[in-house]
Amino acid sequence: MAKSTIGKEINQVLSQLKENMFAGKRILVTGGAGFLGSWLCDILTGTDAEVFCLDNLATGLRENIDHLRGNKNFHFIEGNAENFSQPQRLDIILHLASRTSPEEYQKHPIETLKANSLGTLTVLEAARLNDALTLYASTSEVYGDAQVIPTPETYWGHVNPVGVRSCYDEGKRFGEALCAAYRRQYSLDVRVVRIFNTYGPRIRADGAYARAVPRFITQALLQRDITVYGDGSQTRSFCYVTDTVAGMLKALTSPHAKGEIFNIGNPHEITILQLAEKIKQIAGSTSQVTFHPLPEDDPKRRCPDISKAKTVLGWEPVTSLEEGLAKTVDWFRSRIF
Ligand code: UDP
Repeated sequence: MAKSTIGKEINQVLSQLKENMFAGKRILVTGGAGFLGSWLCDILTGTDAEVFCLDNLATGLRENIDHLRGNKNFHFIEGNAENFSQPQRLDIILHLASRTSPEEYQKHPIETLKANSLGTLTVLEAARLNDALTLYASTSEVYGDAQVIPTPETYWGHVNPVGVRSCYDEGKRFGEALCAAYRRQYSLDVRVVRIFNTYGPRIRADGAYARAVPRFITQALLQRDITVYGDGSQTRSFCYVTDTVAGMLKALTSPHAKGEIFNIGNPHEITILQLAEKIKQIAGSTSQVTFHPLPEDDPKRRCPDISKAKTVLGWEPVTSLEEGLAKTVDWFRSRIF
């Protein structure tokens, strides 16, 4: 999938939005040069909103937003969520800034905790001062190694508070607790989305930044071994990027979502070994699947219950795993070869 095809997908999401919904709004997207953040910047810039993209480029990439730089409604601010120079007047804030790849955030546990605690505090203060509508990008990781599958929003989680993943899990849980406090103490309209594994064009595939999907795809395309951790029986549920960002925008704008928390993900659960085989087949690869030690505290199963998002937001994913993987494989193929 080439760049122009991303453009078509962005237009598709744009066509689902109510006309003029964001026109003239001043919108801050933290983590705006990242995978999901850059899709949101593209979509929001296309709505005649004025978009401020804040990113410290620790994991975000300039190439994700370079094409927006000439647009008079797009402004890039390089910096951390903990201490950024605030644009004057903000109407809406989408707070995504954080490392998200387990291998990578475990290399930077303190920064990860700071981004989700101090960063979220700074962002919520900015939201309070501007009375800005706010969306916090939380994660399925707040459920830890969930014992209830599919997992509803009412589940409190099963998290190792001092384990290797705790910098992310507990950071996001603290971030959610801050959102709840700002809701209670200041009546701030802050909404939370717990995002389950998402994939698609612009997801990073390099080194420790690479999650399972982009790593398997590049391994398959380069005919290298596909590295499954453990015996591959652990499960995940993968959601295509346009479905995830459409769900986020619904949670942000729905009149019924004030102060609510939503699981945003695809409930189709598969094992990691099945994922590896599927990617191998879609990529037409001759790679071998090889098995490696399972990382510590790797959740055994992950699958969202999305009944609440379906009922309240009228949202559910529409892209099948096969379709989404085929698009993502095409995108990586166009970059590698
Ligand atoms: N995984 C794997 N091989 C890899 C990378 C990841 O088998 O090269 C596994 C990982 O152990 C986990 C699943 O794939 O069980 C999903 O990992 P990912 O990094 O995408 O993020 P997570 O869902 O754990 O946050």
